[in-house]
Amino acid sequence: MDVKVSNVVKEFANFPALNEVSLNIQSGELIALLGPSGSGKTTLLRLIAGLDQPSSGRIFFGEEDASHRTVQERNVGFVFQHYALFRHMTVAENIAFGLKVRPASTRPPKAEIRRRVGELLDMVQLSGLEKRYPNQLSGGQRQRVALARAMAIEPRILLLDEPFGALDAKVRKELRRWLREFHDRTGHTTIFVTHDQEEALELADRVVVMSQGKIEQVGSADDVYDHPRSPFVFSFIGESSHLPVEMTGGKVVFDGLPIGIDDAGEGRKTLFFRPQDVQLTAEDYALFGKVTACRRLAGTRIAEIDIANGGDAHHVEIEVPLETPVALGSDLRFRPTRWTLFDRS
Ligand code: ATP
Repeated sequence: MDVKVSNVVKEFANFPALNEVSLNIQSGELIALLGPSGSGKTTLLRLIAGLDQPSSGRIFFGEEDASHRTVQERNVGFVFQHYALFRHMTVAENIAFGLKVRPASTRPPKAEIRRRVGELLDMVQLSGLEKRYPNQLSGGQRQRVALARAMAIEPRILLLDEPFGALDAKVRKELRRWLREFHDRTGHTTIFVTHDQEEALELADRVVVMSQGKIEQVGSADDVYDHPRSPFVFSFIGESSHLPVEMTGGKVVFDGLPIGIDDAGEGRKTLFFRPQDVQLTAEDYALFGKVTACRRLAGTRIAEIDIANGGDAHHVEIEVPLETPVALGSDLRFRPTRWTLFDRS
């Protein structure tokens, strides 16, 4: 099922939680809504679910304007971070719940419900545990029950709010892989909220990067990491440093001196680069500064450098090959090998 969000605004007591948001999701896509706390991810998910109404704008499911449809009419499945399984019900009863509470006219017969529950248990790899109660399951198992319960009503769209938020790193990783396989098998349109960029980049077909109630960029993991379209996206995804520079005659100039790289454009810019996209150099035209700290990561080393610019100090981080000795307090000269310039107003 395609989902189209068109110019949606959501205000809470005059506070714009979503500001003119538009988004086209294709049937069968796995989409991550990624952004810092308060950026509007959950608000957008709730509007798509029908748990809230937009202040203005519209939401389409396929060709149909679903803006004023109820949750039940929209037929979406959702799972929230604090997955509330019914404690007094077994795994099988939890999964069957959404079907059992349907009005008699649309409720499947008992045998059909039992068959469907069995199928779902298989799918989430919990066969054999159907008689257990939630307190007899691990966190990851409970989360899979919650997913099976959401799937039981055969939703047109699956909406997940921080689905793995409450779990430890190892279980999160396993469930991520599992969700990807599950999605590929069932072909549902799935939208999940996360503030974990690794989760978004690893799992999603496309990532929707949000900030302050707006969509900053929509793209594949490669798009948003390799071609960030705004300073926000560049800083939010992956590690990066930035410096204020001037463009004069095609040269990038920092603190009055060309730093040995050329680009298009004129005027005041901000230069963004990633720690791994630099090379050390002995040449005059380069950036230079004092090493204030150094930390070893698994396969590499990151040097923190203070670059003085008149009265201002700028802090940047660069990767240094393990075999290069780096002493605290020493000077390093380097140049970005890949970078992006954004206009500075
Ligand atoms: P988090 O990662 O912390 O869950 P989020 O990106 O999901 O954040 P939302 O929950 O969508 O953010 O909230 C967006 C903004 O709207 C926040 O500033 C929040 O305080 C505000 N907001 C959300 N729900 C309400 C509400 N019911 N009443 C008033 N303000 C709200």
